[in-house]
Amino acid sequence: MRARFVTTDAFGAFIVPYRCVHCGFTAQAKIHAYAESSQAYYFDSDAAANRAQAKATDGAADKAVAGVALATCPKCGRYDEKAAGHKRLVRVIGVILVGLVAGAIAGWYFGRWWVGVFGLAVALPFVKTAAARVPPTRGVEFLAADEPTA
Ligand SMILES: [Zn+2]
Repeated sequence: MRARFVTTDAFGAFIVPYRCVHCGFTAQAKIHAYAESSQAYYFDSDAAANRAQAKATDGAADKAVAGVALATCPKCGRYDEKAAGHKRLVRVIGVILVGLVAGAIAGWYFGRWWVGVFGLAVALPFVKTAAARVPPTRGVEFLAADEPTA
C-alpha cells in the first residue's frame, strides 16, 4: 500500500520580542511568516492534516523569530551582522560539504582521486552565492517599545 500525502501551509502575523544587540532597544515586533509541511499517511488523513498544520505553524513561527532577529533596529538603524554572518557561514560550509561528498563519490566512481577535485571546483561558484551578504529582514513592524527595565 502506498502512502498518501497531505500538504498544508501556515501564514500569519507573529508578535516576537526584539532586542537590538547594539543599543539594547527592546520592543515587540510584528512580522508575517509562511511555511508549509507535508505529512505521509495510510488511513487517517485527518490526523496527518493536523500534524502537517502543527508543523507548518511551528515552521512559520521559527521563521518569524529568525526574521525578527535580523531586522534593522528602529532606534539605531543597525542590525545583527554577527547573526547574519553566522547564517552565511552555515550556508558556505553546507555548499563545501556537498562539493566534497560529490567529489569523493566521483573520485571513487572513476577510481582516480583527482577527479574528486572537480567536485569542489564545481561547488565553488555556489560558495560565492552562499557567501552573499544576508540583508536585514524587511516588513518588520515595531509595536510600542517596552518600558525600560533599568
Ligand atoms: Zn539598536
